[in-house]
Amino acid sequence: MSHVFHRQCNQKLPAAVKGDGVYLIDQSGKRYLDASGGAAVSCLGHSHAGVREALHQQIDALAYAHSGFFTTETAEALGEKLTSLAPGDLNYAYFVSGGSEAVEAALKLARQYFVEKGEPQRQRFIARRQSYHGNTLGALAVGGNEWRRAQFAPLLIDVAHIAPCYAYRDQREDETSFEYGQRVANELEQQLLDEGPDTVIAFIAEPVVGATAGVLPAVDGYFKRIREICDKYGVLLILDEVMCGMGRTGTLFAHEYDGITADIVTIAKGLGAGYQPIGAMLTTEEIYQAVSSGTGFFQHGHTYMAHATAMAGSLAVLNAFENEQLVARVGTEGELLQASLKERLVDHPFVGDVRGRGFFQGIEFVADRATKAPLPVKTQFHARLKRSAMENGLMCYPMAGTIDGQAGHHVLLAPPFILSRSERDELVDKLVASINHVSEEVYKEFLA
Ligand code: PMP
Repeated sequence: MSHVFHRQCNQKLPAAVKGDGVYLIDQSGKRYLDASGGAAVSCLGHSHAGVREALHQQIDALAYAHSGFFTTETAEALGEKLTSLAPGDLNYAYFVSGGSEAVEAALKLARQYFVEKGEPQRQRFIARRQSYHGNTLGALAVGGNEWRRAQFAPLLIDVAHIAPCYAYRDQREDETSFEYGQRVANELEQQLLDEGPDTVIAFIAEPVVGATAGVLPAVDGYFKRIREICDKYGVLLILDEVMCGMGRTGTLFAHEYDGITADIVTIAKGLGAGYQPIGAMLTTEEIYQAVSSGTGFFQHGHTYMAHATAMAGSLAVLNAFENEQLVARVGTEGELLQASLKERLVDHPFVGDVRGRGFFQGIEFVADRATKAPLPVKTQFHARLKRSAMENGLMCYPMAGTIDGQAGHHVLLAPPFILSRSERDELVDKLVASINHVSEEVYKEFLA
């Protein structure tokens, strides 16, 4: 009997004992192709020599020094590197241990910024439905995933949620995708006017939605309009790139694609590539200076901030991106992955949409391709798919969004950037076999 409080209390999990490139190996020697990088984490695979070497060196020299007493050379080097690569004037990096912590820090910094500026009446956040920003209470409050929020709703700060940019479901036949993007972006302006624009701190969104809607990039022009609206009303724009950032979509920061800059950006996952737990919040000169020349103290912190070993790991990850030219590779190989998925699944009766950017691809499953009606919740299609794929030696990340009050079934693919072409073929073969297996099962049990 396990004494570990596993999240899936009643599920017996295999024990992972070794990593080998894009594969994880369990205690019985079975190999699993990691097609989702865990949850879009393991961008360098599981045995990167350069990162392991950097970690060993750091631990031998110094594992940890509390950030209230010391900075470290690796923290300084990582801060310099990240901010020099970031778009706009994101000149400061605040290091934490994961994505939710980065989002909490972002929300609190945004609030403190306005307090420092003498605008304490700004107290509200606006976010989007079909979004996920983390499981801590602040991050959960801005998130718009019904399933994750439901039982904690009474504990969450009150946040307004506007529509996501979800062209597959919401674009009308009489509008172009650009027009659709402008229409949904304008919901932000309407919400600001309803709230009173000078009561709002920030709007937070994922440039490419991840853990709630099976990968959902916005249409072109949407984020430009969002930026314009934020600027018009002096509201901060926080972009949550915890999942879609760090090269995952083919640019180091996902919002480079949209041609906009943000006031605060959160990153995690790929930043440590799974070798260490790490997250970061990047912010602008303007926001940093407001705190630095105001109280001079950001009222927020954690014990493991800027952990020396995590810093060394991330620095090695960014070096690997550069030395192995991985981010550009993700762009071109990602297109091939998507093309291959589309080719193999184009006629599948339960596949509604295949979408994504780079090595961040999602499949949305439906009961009926014409009406786009979701599969009934009771089919648990996404959970069955995870199980079937694991049996076939493939890790893929299932998820349930909420579509018109019903669970949507999606699967997310976020393979390591080093995925070779033969590994890509194996991924697609195993995924299609698993989808076919589960589809037959679900059809016979629920729909025949
Ligand atoms: N933001 C986004 C966009 C995420 O996808 C996630 C994790 N899936 C988080 C925040 C929370 O990160 P963590 O699980 O590391 O706390």
